[in-house]
Amino acid sequence: MNEKTFGLLGFPLSHSFSALIYNIIFKLYNKNYKYLLLETPPEKINIFIKSHPNLDGFNVTMPYKNYMFSLINNADETSSFFKTTNTVLKQEGSYKCYNTDYFGFLQSLKFFNVNFKGNILLLGLGGAGKIVAAEAILKKANLTVAIRRASFKKATKTLNSLFSENFNENVKIVDLQNIPKEKYGIIVNATPIGMSPNTKETLLNEFFGCETAIDLIYNPKETLFLKKAKKDGAKTINGFMMLIFQAIKAFEIFTNSSFKETETLKLALKIKEKLKRN
Ligand code: NAP
Repeated sequence: MNEKTFGLLGFPLSHSFSALIYNIIFKLYNKNYKYLLLETPPEKINIFIKSHPNLDGFNVTMPYKNYMFSLINNADETSSFFKTTNTVLKQEGSYKCYNTDYFGFLQSLKFFNVNFKGNILLLGLGGAGKIVAAEAILKKANLTVAIRRASFKKATKTLNSLFSENFNENVKIVDLQNIPKEKYGIIVNATPIGMSPNTKETLLNEFFGCETAIDLIYNPKETLFLKKAKKDGAKTINGFMMLIFQAIKAFEIFTNSSFKETETLKLALKIKEKLKRN
């Protein structure tokens, strides 16, 4: 069997489920592949590629998604659009960036039957927040992006670079400390606030009668943000299925294969069942 080595680049990685997910996929598809957790502190990031010459590909997580994209300078359409990468493939000695988070987010919305329209409140506009904002803008939702005041300029620049100033009508950027008290059908947390081990934190205490609350965090299973939303009567969704779907798409890239949607769904359910969690 053809041996290959893949891994996850990030810092820290103690919360990661990626090795568990990939080992399940490799086993199901009879691949003799290894998946390593490559926790890399910021002072060593500039020698990461040189230090791992035997990697056939790797996933990228916080805080290196933008850094890797600009370092590699060769990307597929989705990665180029979002200017960020979570999947890197080595081919004939050179590297190419991909972004499978967008696919993961869309599949997760489909899985949970979420109609991503109407009045949407998004907390955070980093790598993952951009993806959520893009989908809201494409669906012509009314999007309110709540961020720290100090990041307003950066956020406007991000949205302008993605949508060439065509987004203005339906998008508002507001201060996290001063969120308009409106009814939002969907509220999405795309910040790391509430992620393990800081599980006692949340950016939102009021949910304005929201119907669906989505937290992209998957560890813990139920963040304080989701607990409070549930108490207020919202349907709650964490980032676990998004994580599984983005990993399946990355596996397709690593193996140069293409799954039909039914196969992706079947595999996602198998992984979920084997990991015994949601
Ligand atoms: P990122 O690029 O670092 O962006 C983080 C965002 O959160 C930025 O908008 C940042 O604002 C904001 N933020 C950080 N600390 C904050 C604070 N104390 N108060 C207010 N805002 C704060 O990170 P990311 O890659 O987008 O990831 C965000 C979250 O999504 C993480 O929890 C990650 O695990 C999760 N995620 C999940 C999946 C999945 O598959 N389920 C995929 C991707 C990401 P500033 O710009 O002001 O710093």
